[in-house]
Amino acid sequence: MIRFLDNKLVRYLSVFLFLNSAIPPVKSSSALAAWAIKENGVLELRTKTNTNLKAYFQKANQISGDRFWIDFPGELKNPRSIKGNGPIKEIRLGKPIPGKTRLVIEFNEETYLKPLTWRMVGLDQNRWRIKLFAPKYSFKKIGEGLVVKRKGDIKSKQNSIYNKKRNSNYLKLPEVKRNKFLVVIDPGHGGPDPGAVGIAGIRETDVVLEVSKIVKKLLSEKGVRVRLTRKNEVDLDLPPRVSFANNMDADIFVSIHANASRGKRRDINGLETFYYRGWKGKYLAKKIQKQILRVSPGSPDRGVKQGRFYVIKNTRMPAVLVEIGFLTGRLDARRLEKSTHRKRLAYAIAKGILEYLYKIG
Ligand SMILES: [Zn+2]
Repeated sequence: MIRFLDNKLVRYLSVFLFLNSAIPPVKSSSALAAWAIKENGVLELRTKTNTNLKAYFQKANQISGDRFWIDFPGELKNPRSIKGNGPIKEIRLGKPIPGKTRLVIEFNEETYLKPLTWRMVGLDQNRWRIKLFAPKYSFKKIGEGLVVKRKGDIKSKQNSIYNKKRNSNYLKLPEVKRNKFLVVIDPGHGGPDPGAVGIAGIRETDVVLEVSKIVKKLLSEKGVRVRLTRKNEVDLDLPPRVSFANNMDADIFVSIHANASRGKRRDINGLETFYYRGWKGKYLAKKIQKQILRVSPGSPDRGVKQGRFYVIKNTRMPAVLVEIGFLTGRLDARRLEKSTHRKRLAYAIAKGILEYLYKIG
């Protein structure tokens, strides 16, 4: 979101949106795919993905009324003008210079506009909106093309493919030898013990159980055997969690928790991973910590630490205890309540585990 700049000297108010700095080839077709000005005075645009737009406003002069225009990369095929109604006198689509498309909205002279309050907002990679006037003016919608993509639309498919691709590259899970490893995942707390209770009543037991189940699914898909110490809301003491892993002779043990700060301070956020002994435990902790930080931008790195927690102290295999964020922290809690973030964390933990198994075996 970029605000208009007030520059009285040139009597221009400009908005520049630089999503990327790529300069498109001159010959490319117009990046403007569709536009509409709706009854409520909102201009909506659909463009090519990640288009670099520039928008301008000029006060009325002897030749024309107030004008707002947006330049798009790529050349328009058919310059045209469309008659306006209400506060809008005319809309013109032109090519002021070769290789560019300009959408000009000219207002009637008496229109009272407040361009200093205008904001061009990017809704996603190819959609934009800006409110031009208040609905007190009676105005009939004008537009060309489909601004809102319908489900199953090619554009939205491209979008989801793009997102999927980006996510999978970001968190591509390593391949390990199938049916070779056994991992015990320990979702902290459970049953009458909810663990930490954070902002808006978000409970540690629920968050870590969901994350643990996804970790299990992801590891299983890679041919890793996974056992959870609990699959639902049961009361499970610490010793049985430990003996469960020890009896099974698991390769690694990963206990998943979420934090709470004393006094429930909302400014305390962050992620940390504990191990108790051994370079393998420390290595596993480092791998997991690195990955969970990647999916939690802005949340502090509280580091890989030695901790004397019962479950990592008494298990015989390399064991770590992961704290995936503060349920009492403003930043972390808002994320931890979302299933998308829980999935990302699960991916991250699974990736850390697989990297460890790949390297150490
Ligand atoms: Zn806990």
